[in-house]
Parts: sequence; C-alpha cells; structure tokens
Amino acid sequence: MNMKRRSISLCISLLLVLTGMSQEMLLGIWKDGRDTERFYHHSTEAVVWKVDGGKTITVPANKTTYFTLDKGKVRISTADKVLAHSTKAERTTMGIYNLKGINPPRKEEKYNQPFKVTANSKGLLLTGIILDFESYVAGVMESESGKEQGIEYYKVQALICRTYALSNKRRHEHEGFNLCDQVHCQVYHGMSRFNPDIIEASQITAGQVIVDSDMNLINATFHSNCGGHTVNSEEVWSKALPYLRAKEDTFCLEGKHATWESQILRSAWFDYMEAKTGGMPENPSADLYSYKPSGRSTHFLLDDKSIPLKDIRSKWFLNSTYFEMAPDGERLILKGRGFGHGVGLCQEGAMSMIRKGYSYQEALAFYYTDVHLVHLSVIDFFKKN
Ligand SMILES: [Zn+2]
Ligand SMILES: [Zn+2]
Repeated sequence: MNMKRRSISLCISLLLVLTGMSQEMLLGIWKDGRDTERFYHHSTEAVVWKVDGGKTITVPANKTTYFTLDKGKVRISTADKVLAHSTKAERTTMGIYNLKGINPPRKEEKYNQPFKVTANSKGLLLTGIILDFESYVAGVMESESGKEQGIEYYKVQALICRTYALSNKRRHEHEGFNLCDQVHCQVYHGMSRFNPDIIEASQITAGQVIVDSDMNLINATFHSNCGGHTVNSEEVWSKALPYLRAKEDTFCLEGKHATWESQILRSAWFDYMEAKTGGMPENPSADLYSYKPSGRSTHFLLDDKSIPLKDIRSKWFLNSTYFEMAPDGERLILKGRGFGHGVGLCQEGAMSMIRKGYSYQEALAFYYTDVHLVHLSVIDFFKKN
C-alpha cells in the first residue's frame, strides 16, 4: 500500500474508532446522590427538542426552558406556557447552553454537547451525549488539573483523563450511561472555558492514550504528592498491576504538599489501637506511641500485630500513610510526607519534571512502569489483527 493510501485508510479507521467511541459515551449529569426535580436550560440560539412520539418542539433563542418532574413525567415549559408533558426530551441541536438546577439548587454551568432528559418516579435523569470526546476531556481537566500549569503539563493530564475515561466506561452501564460527572469517575462541570491551554493540550494529544505491554488501557491513577516514594497498587487496592509499581521520586520534594503535620491525643490513640488489636496488654510496648519506619511502609507493627496504615490514614484523616510519630506529653505528633494514596502518577512531581524540561511522554513513562503512549486507532489495529 502506498503512503497516501495507507494514511487515508488510517484516517478512515481512526474516524471509525472515534465515531464508534462517541456513539457509546454517555455522561450522567449531576450524579451527586440528590434527585433532580426541576432545572432550567438557557441558550442564546433556538433549540429543537424531540419528545414522545417523535414530535419536535422549537424553543426560540434566549428563552429559558424549565424541566419539572410531574407525575413521573417531564413537564417542559417556558415562563408563560407548558410546551409538553413527555417521558423524555432530547436536545437535538448542537451549540452552547446553560443548565442550572433549581430543585435541588445547583450552580449554573455551560455545556456544549447534546443531552436528554428522562423521568422516573423519583427524579429527572440528565444524560449528556459525548459527541466531542476531546471537549469532554478538556472539561474534566479544567475541574481536575489545577490552574496555570502550561501546555506541556496539561498534555500529561489529558492522557490520564482520556485513558481513565475510556478504561472506566462500563462503570455505570447498569444505570444507562457510561460515566458520572463526580469524583467517582472524573469531575466534569461542563465545557472548558477558562483556560485555552487546556483545550490546546487536549487537541494536540487528541486520541492518545496510555497502554500496558499487552495494549490494554491502563488504570491511570494519580495523586497530589507521593512524599518521595510512590506505592504499589496492591498496597492500597487488592490488585497488583505491573505498571503501578512503587518507586523513588525526588521531583516532588519541594511541592506544595510535600510535608504535613498532625496531632492525635494519646488516649484516643490508645483506645483506637486497643479496638484494632482486640485488647492491649497491661504494659504495651513503647512502640505504641513512637513510630519511625525506615522508608515508606504499609503496616504499623506492634509486637505481633500489624495494622494497615491505610486504615490509620482514613480514621485520622491524614494526608497520607507516609509519616512518623513521636509522643509529646498528652499528644502524639505526626510528621508526614505527601498527599494522597501514592499510587501511579504524582502530580506535583510531574509538574516539577515539566518545569525542569522533561516532556509529557517522559513524565508519564517515569510514573507508569513499562507503558506505551499510542493512538486509539493503533489499539484498534492491534486488536483486529
Ligand atoms: Zn461514576
Ligand atoms: Zn512524588
């Protein structure tokens, strides 16, 4: 096959991959556990809604449309008239619009992809139809990646967000959509509109994902700061993954979340340990109140007992499991390092790598062991052959 024909065929297969992907991707909007009973939609352009029986309703430009749960159906109205009473409504027009929750109240956000509303006895279900996947990736990045990082770092984050979204797209299948818009999947508060660098980074890296040596999308976990050493996946979750391996990281040591300090009451600690170990001896060993691991550890060891540090972290709301402890009168002073679970990419470390001149590819390769960055069309090609 000559180059021209090969590139045309690559383009076509890429188009098929992207089209196939976009048809499948549905986003559950406002999945924060509260049932939506009423919200409004506002657009500066005229909008066509498809309702029951294939009927269409056109709402003129600049007119606010209200959606209200009414006897298990959606009542669609403007300020002065009811337009329909339907089991569903689908916004068929492309363009930018605002959504705002009225009951319960939610912040007004801007969206740019079609969506549909269906009703059940409890509430209105809003489902975003992700036709422009890169725009979704940019929206997630704006919510998840922090501000003012520069394009090269946003490329790191774009690959993570994209890979994460695609490898988790079956998470909500039983609810009729692919991903939710909360921390559970990835936070998405509508389209990216405050930082053009984010949109540019997602466009430049469009379609690029992170795969393991078997060409499977990786579980691209990340955290704020590892404190100088990342953690094996099985130490936080049960599964050992070959690309989520513990390693030393000196890049994040100057980061904003590199160190932390906390205090625990000695008596509260004693009670906790007693409950955890199933009863303390009369004279507990001195190690009960002092703890100084030689490196990053997974368990707090006391005589013949061992307590997972992740349990201690969640009980005392600690920034990380990476700390040492010493008694000081009635209190225990904890000095810790890092922020987050420590598995996968360390964000502050990656930011520092980029500032030092490393590329986004190098930052990803540093934190994820033996991975490859490929275009989605390449995965498709490999899986077919
Ligand atoms: Zn979710
Ligand atoms: Zn780190």
